Amino acid sequence: MEKYLNTFTEAFIGTINWTLDSILFNVPWHKNYFWGLIVISLVVWVLEMIFPWRKDQSFIRKDFWLDGFYMFFNFFIFAIVISGFYNVLGVLFSEIGISNKSLALIDISHWELWQQLLVFFIILDFVQWLTHVLLHKFEFLWRFHKVHHSVKEMGFAAHLRYHWMENIFYKPLKTFGVMLIGGFEPEQAYIVHFIAISIGHLNHSNIKITWGPFKYILNNSVMHLYHHIKALPEGRSQGINYGISLSIWDYIFKTNYVPEESGTLELGFPDEESFPKGFIGQFFTGFRSK
Ligand SMILES: [Zn+2]
Ligand SMILES: [Zn+2]
Repeated sequence: MEKYLNTFTEAFIGTINWTLDSILFNVPWHKNYFWGLIVISLVVWVLEMIFPWRKDQSFIRKDFWLDGFYMFFNFFIFAIVISGFYNVLGVLFSEIGISNKSLALIDISHWELWQQLLVFFIILDFVQWLTHVLLHKFEFLWRFHKVHHSVKEMGFAAHLRYHWMENIFYKPLKTFGVMLIGGFEPEQAYIVHFIAISIGHLNHSNIKITWGPFKYILNNSVMHLYHHIKALPEGRSQGINYGISLSIWDYIFKTNYVPEESGTLELGFPDEESFPKGFIGQFFTGFRSK
């Protein structure tokens, strides 16, 4: 028991210290997600001001500050709270002989670095696409995912408005994905993480991006805005355009839908009137079916 308690406290305090060191610039710049997130956000925000898609939308749109808070809550506060639990789980699994090296399908450790990063990026994106599909398919998961779909005016900060339970839902498949490549997380994985954050911000931004012919591979703001549409098209009641960084999975599995590119859609979901509007209400939502 003492071992688990020690693991828990060590991870918990370690994550608090790492976060404080990040804020105080005491970690290598390429691992500084705190300031990295702020810099990416400021860049995309300025781009929204220079190249607005919906010209009548305010730079500080509806719920801007709520979403700004979510950004730090989901990335840092939640990470601190959960770190102890995850590390204890890791110890429990290793005791029954399961490690993240147990499932290796392919060994990529001797590949070129760019190949490793590319495979890591593609696998991680696919398992997240799959998780996102499940969040829409099952009612008990959708109740939590509604927080992300409660955005009424779209802008970059909406990217990280999601229920804290989603961090937990995404974890098993992400871990499984990393296990498939031998538990191998390249030392330079931060490149993939920063690219994914940037693409996610752009997908939610008030900037019209289609990537031209690359739209069949890369997700974009036009495609993702349709993911947030309030009135889903006939026969697509469970959702469309589930893509995270890549759009290719939606084209492969025929869940793509982009009929036009005006950017003037009503966002949300049908029973949104009774949905909590503030952080506290949304924090506790989802645990009970109506
Ligand atoms: Zn969704
Ligand atoms: Zn979204």
